[in-house]
Amino acid sequence: MGDAAQQSRSARAAYFAALPWGQILEDAAQLSAVCRHDGQLADYIPALARVAPDQFGIAVATLDGSIHSVEDCATRFSIQSISKVFLLSLAYRSYGESLWERVRQAPSTNPFNSLIELELERGIPRNPFLNPGALVVTDALLSRHTHLESAMVALLRELAGSAGINYDSEVFNSELRCASRHFAAAHLMQSHGNFSNVVSEVVRAYCASCAIEASCVELARAGLFLANGGRAIEGGRQLLSAHEAQRVCALMLTTGTYEYSGMTAFAIGLPTKSGVGGGVLAILPGRGSICIWSPRLDARGNSVRAMKALELISNAAGLSLFA
Ligand code: GLN
Repeated sequence: MGDAAQQSRSARAAYFAALPWGQILEDAAQLSAVCRHDGQLADYIPALARVAPDQFGIAVATLDGSIHSVEDCATRFSIQSISKVFLLSLAYRSYGESLWERVRQAPSTNPFNSLIELELERGIPRNPFLNPGALVVTDALLSRHTHLESAMVALLRELAGSAGINYDSEVFNSELRCASRHFAAAHLMQSHGNFSNVVSEVVRAYCASCAIEASCVELARAGLFLANGGRAIEGGRQLLSAHEAQRVCALMLTTGTYEYSGMTAFAIGLPTKSGVGGGVLAILPGRGSICIWSPRLDARGNSVRAMKALELISNAAGLSLFA
């Protein structure tokens, strides 16, 4: 990068860090409260239906290591599909561009657990944030990691700088007991020759990743490496190249909130990944990351209040990539 580009990048990061975060987050919390009772808990995973539904927290992490946060920002919740960002990052690191022979980079208008396209498109999932895509990524990882479940927890602990991150075994067992669609997707991909490991082992490792618990503060910190050209802030490890980090962000923007991704680009303008635990992680390349959590979901599995709050913050502070 040339000197001028580096300077404008540093200025952007400094501007972001100096925004009046206290006020911005208070306003977003207050204004998003209008939809605090909208949506439903993810009851298809019974343990998630037992979460107190009115919780809400926000954490913003900036590249200089500061955190700004409000409300339930330190309460751990089930990260669910936000784990797909970290699974993908591990697999991309390991396989490089050859990963894309097994999973594509295309958006989908079908729900995250749909199998329709998978059969029509010969067992190659549209993208790594759909369940079949994340299962194929997990399968690829299991070929290289004997202890993938511990590798995932270790990665999140390292990136968040927080030794307390762990699995919730109740959520894990709860999802595994109703994992028929995961098994169906995996077997379908196996029948098309796009699967290498024992299906039940891959499904277990996938459910375990989804059952990791972390708080908004921890997830905002963990996501910072994607805003920082692939390099971890905690410890400084280069997890992905800058080019790879850029591509993970592009996928988050175009596919990270499923059928809503086009609207996410339109209304929020940031790479965003949601999970059915109610968490939403947004990356601001070169600036920082934001994690918002509130458990009630819309019909697509995105948190109603967290998405609303993210939209309010993005618009109030002019954060869209396209601004
Ligand atoms: N574990 C969930 C599932 O596979 C994750 C889905 C999500 O968070 N969108 O159904």
